[in-house]
Amino acid sequence: MRLAGKVAIVTGGAQGIGRGIVLCMAKEGADIAIADLKVEEAAKVADEVKALGRKALAVKADVTKPADFEALFEMVKKELGKIDILVNNAGVASRPGNPFTNNVEQDWDLVWAVNVKSIFFACKAIAPYFIQRKAGKIINIASIAGTMNSPNMPPYSVSKMGVVTFTKIMAKDLAAHGINVNAICPGILWTAFWQETADRMAKGGGQYAGMTPRQVFESRVNAIVPMKREQTPEDIGWAAVFLASDQARSVTGQALHVDGGVVM
Ligand code: NAD
Repeated sequence: MRLAGKVAIVTGGAQGIGRGIVLCMAKEGADIAIADLKVEEAAKVADEVKALGRKALAVKADVTKPADFEALFEMVKKELGKIDILVNNAGVASRPGNPFTNNVEQDWDLVWAVNVKSIFFACKAIAPYFIQRKAGKIINIASIAGTMNSPNMPPYSVSKMGVVTFTKIMAKDLAAHGINVNAICPGILWTAFWQETADRMAKGGGQYAGMTPRQVFESRVNAIVPMKREQTPEDIGWAAVFLASDQARSVTGQALHVDGGVVM
């Protein structure tokens, strides 16, 4: 029980990687607030957390809105007593580039708002509370796409490198206050995110023409993952548990790739 007595907030926890992080943290003893646009799906995950014997809240929140974070943090303090861990996981893909001239301004605006600015809003709102408590763990979900400079999704790739850079800046600012800030860079997972991406790649023709989305995904796993296996939400969840635990008290400003060796 590495997170016994802790309270965590996970954005985008209604499905996929976020749900994996929620369930791993709950198994390690944390009470959890799940903040997502999809509040009905979040409520189902909250029920799974309660079935593990932990407290859980499902909160409708849009991470692009600073006021939603203020309301979320107040509600969690009231209902669950405090906040120890913040996981900024909510994120969206951008439409395909390949080449980048296929992208339009809206592709950049969307990922900038959901993937990057949201983390600024969340951390600006939580930092004074964590500083006052002289404790706090912030975990930001980035991606191998940042490190890999992906021509498939230029705005997304740039946004995720932005997440890593901002993670390191905040880690420097907050280190003296006993606050750890780290990023996790997941590899390639068969969540709704990749199912939609693979569907677009199959429909885009070229080398993926005629493949099912799952075949596109498996061909990418085989092409880029040295360990030749896809990652799972639990793979990311256990990494998040470690970074949120006291075992990682001296780990800060890091971007941990959980990717079967893609980036090495
Ligand atoms: P997903 O699409 O399955 O889940 C994303 C969740 O975020 C959804 O529940 C969605 O409702 C929520 N969300 C989206 N916009 C939101 C908003 N404005 N406010 C609140 N919630 C919002 O995707 P996933 O694969 O679970 O991805 C989770 C994170 O992991 C994302 O940041 C993604 O970029 C990153 N990631 C995914 C992969 C992968 O292969 N799936 C790889 C690397 C990084």
